Amino acid sequence: MPSLLFDNVLLRELPGDCSDAPGPREVLDACYSRVMPTPVPAPRLLAHSADMAATLGFGVEELASDAFARVFGGNALLPGMQPSAANYGGHQFGVWAGQLGDGRAISLGEVLTVGGKRWELQLKGAGPTPYSRGADGRAVLRSSIREFLCSEAMHHLGIPTTRALCLVGTGEQVVRDMLYDGHPRAEPGAIVCRAAPSFIRFGSFELPAAHGDTALLRRLADFTIRRDFPHLAGHGEGLYGDWFGEVCARTARLMADWMRVGFVHGVMNTDNMSILGLTLDYGPYGWIEDYDPDWTPNTTDAQRRRYRYEQQPDVAWWNLSRLAAALAPLFGDIAPLQAGLDRYVAVYAEADRASIVAKLGLAACRDGDTALMQSLHDLLHEAEVDMTLWFRGLVDFDPQRPALEPLHDAFYDEAKRRAQEPALVDWLARYAARLADDPLPVAERRARMRAANPRYVLRNYLAQQAIERAEQGDCGGIHELLDVLRRPCDEQAGREAFARKRPDWARHRPGCSMLSCSS
Ligand code: AMP
Ligand code: MG
Repeated sequence: MPSLLFDNVLLRELPGDCSDAPGPREVLDACYSRVMPTPVPAPRLLAHSADMAATLGFGVEELASDAFARVFGGNALLPGMQPSAANYGGHQFGVWAGQLGDGRAISLGEVLTVGGKRWELQLKGAGPTPYSRGADGRAVLRSSIREFLCSEAMHHLGIPTTRALCLVGTGEQVVRDMLYDGHPRAEPGAIVCRAAPSFIRFGSFELPAAHGDTALLRRLADFTIRRDFPHLAGHGEGLYGDWFGEVCARTARLMADWMRVGFVHGVMNTDNMSILGLTLDYGPYGWIEDYDPDWTPNTTDAQRRRYRYEQQPDVAWWNLSRLAAALAPLFGDIAPLQAGLDRYVAVYAEADRASIVAKLGLAACRDGDTALMQSLHDLLHEAEVDMTLWFRGLVDFDPQRPALEPLHDAFYDEAKRRAQEPALVDWLARYAARLADDPLPVAERRARMRAANPRYVLRNYLAQQAIERAEQGDCGGIHELLDVLRRPCDEQAGREAFARKRPDWARHRPGCSMLSCSS
């Protein structure tokens, strides 16, 4: 194995749990607990990200070695690794939930790469920790494949996210009731190794704040700024305000990115919100197929739909307001916190306009363009149109011939298409008129639209097909998807099948359109 350089600064500089008692417990005055991964019977590498492996300096032979599978299955440590689980709280579905913490994620340490970048490595599903609250600390193969693939897909879309190094099968069965309907079954277990510069969450600050522990809150904030926001050093008096403002701006840009590509996180609890503005904790997420602003893939949230597609930007603001409340004790005057929340609104509005411009291929956003996009969204919803196919199809739109025909592929329902055809043709005519009045040359317009409107996204049914193959012992589907999703905006000859709209069989199928938090 290569000698990775570990610099576990979080463990060094923040207070850890004094107890090492086994079993779940409340952990006060500490940001983490030292805990070893629980060994698994038969660790086997099922997939890896070549990009992430290269970033960390793993060669092909190392990846294929037993030692690699043992380390990333939690059965062995490399020199410098110091396993720990983080302590944090969170608001779940709008309600303060108290201490949550890493119930099944175990950090191995912080790798410093040759380029000077810091990557915390974390095993998800590596066994119980003091934060497991009665659960088993494990993860099943299906949810691990979903996290592995989507982390890398998101990265290649250029959207901030935690990454995934590898997926290891454990050789152990894990019992889950997938739809929470009283049908538990044994499923294969797996572990994903995630990587990120920081896994600190909004909930990491909310917990010491809830305990009234301002000293710990301050230590954590100072540490986070020093390690994860080093460019803010020297900001003097306004430091905390500038930091919070930046967290708000990053979160706003992340929301605009999700909305642009049709990603629905599914569980935007404050413990799943990254302080760095990364997409974090891939659970019952999904990708919009037929355009529906009210859609959520998460059946656990099917009644209230708190985390539905359209509501994500508002939920992020609410989550930031919870973070602001937690940080308030660090501020003599809360005006900078209010300013940060206002900055969120302004940055989101600007990023949303940038999305409209990019998706429609315009030089700049003018009065009326937001309304043009809104009326398109309304029509796509009414007519049940595939979001990804529609926008990608629009790249080749000919303003001289504003016809619907070239976009027929994007429709799920013939009757609805026919019913909405006049309104859609009318919209295309408005769009053609707008383009006629836009200075962008055609080639430039199309290039910008291709970059903003991916051809390939991790469609829910594609992930499910790869999962079903893997559960039968064939990981080929994971490798294929990973490879396709490395170039989501390019046309890839021979891979048209990966760009197809959801087939009928997947419409109401568990794993495709219905997912729960069971993982
Ligand atoms: P999530 O909704 O996946 O972000 O998880 C919420 C909380 O539940 C986190 O504190 C997780 O660590 C914990 N958790 C989820 N699944 C398990 C499990 N199988 N074992 C232990 N803790 C878990
Ligand atoms: Mg979580």
